[in-house]
Amino acid sequence: SRQFTRPLNELANQFNTLLSAIAGAERVFEVLDEREEAQDEKEASVLRHVTGKVEFEQVSFSYEKEGHNTIKDVSFHANPGETIALVGPTGAGKTTIINLLSRFYEVQNGRIMVDGQDISNVTRASLRSHMGFVLQDSFLFQGTIRENIRFGRLEASDAEVVEAAKLANAHSFIMKLPDQYDTVLQQDDSGISQGQRQLLSIARAILANPTILILDEATSNIDTITEVKIQEALEHLMEGRTSFVIAHRLNTIQQADQILVLEKGRIIEKGSHRELLEVKGFYYELYHSQLKGDKIG
Ligand code: ADP
Repeated sequence: SRQFTRPLNELANQFNTLLSAIAGAERVFEVLDEREEAQDEKEASVLRHVTGKVEFEQVSFSYEKEGHNTIKDVSFHANPGETIALVGPTGAGKTTIINLLSRFYEVQNGRIMVDGQDISNVTRASLRSHMGFVLQDSFLFQGTIRENIRFGRLEASDAEVVEAAKLANAHSFIMKLPDQYDTVLQQDDSGISQGQRQLLSIARAILANPTILILDEATSNIDTITEVKIQEALEHLMEGRTSFVIAHRLNTIQQADQILVLEKGRIIEKGSHRELLEVKGFYYELYHSQLKGDKIG
């Protein structure tokens, strides 16, 4: 689904560009908001008392004004702390659901509620302050490892940065680098591996401590040892948070509280792994044809 994660990836790329030019990270959000998006409504309030309850109520959406709906009549409830796996073929609408929840695009029909508050009535900044993202292409900027992790919460102490890195299984590889936490990451990807970059973005998310987590599970080739480290780190990160996972790994999908099976913009099945196998429908077929191979998509 790599080529379809466009808005999130664009955001990541813009972070890289802008962060090189601008010092204050908070300012980056402001600039992005000004450039990319409509102003918040005048009467927009601040999202408060967030426990991580998320409700989609008959949500429909089209990327084009007159076009067919990309998302059709999508409804589901996620309780605080639950893991929701989004499953389905490329183009089914998994990323679009995330784009709508994060308000990179606006719902056209129906509504999305977070803790009883319609997200279209709150400021984007307050909504996103409760959300964390761990995406396939982690957005690291040119700066030290310490700065890159601290970007999750700018006021965090050095000790808190290290603590987050430990929980994310990143501390040991960082300590083996010549300059350890002062190692400067280059934009050209040199120096550390793809998997290690992911561990850093997980450390950043742990530090940010969001209530709602968005994970786009990697499909790229990462060595088995790093893969295990990433899985462990993600388990730490997901604990106690409402997590939406664009899932490719069988293990993640099996452990999810709810699996939303999407096809052509609709939820065609939802339930736990066990429940969905009993239905012997689309998921059952998918499981027997693809999922058993450990990865899908
Ligand atoms: P998935 O994540 O399940 O692969 P997406 O939500 O990315 O699916 O895509 C759903 C549909 O919306 C696809 O047909 C895709 O081509 C289309 N789409 C995705 N992003 C955009 C966009 N920014 N503009 C127009 N169409 C898009």
